[in-house]
Amino acid sequence: MNDLEVGSSVKCGICGRETKVQFVTEREGGKAFDLDCMHRNALCPNCGVLVRDDSETIQKVEPLCRTCSPEAFEDED
Ligand SMILES: [Zn+2]
Ligand SMILES: [Zn+2]
Repeated sequence: MNDLEVGSSVKCGICGRETKVQFVTEREGGKAFDLDCMHRNALCPNCGVLVRDDSETIQKVEPLCRTCSPEAFEDED
């Protein structure tokens, strides 16, 4: 999962749909992946999978992983 590029088939870490990478951008904190489902994902450094980008600004990425930070998702669903 570390060589994701434009056009790679991925599963969105936000909506869970099978989609594709539309853009890859280098940001402070890592790479941001803009997907065809219009969600911006980041790569979890521990799991190596696409997860939600929780950054408040477009210049930075902050991967927020459901596996590594389950407490952040407690009030969802
Ligand atoms: Zn999505
Ligand atoms: Zn993780």
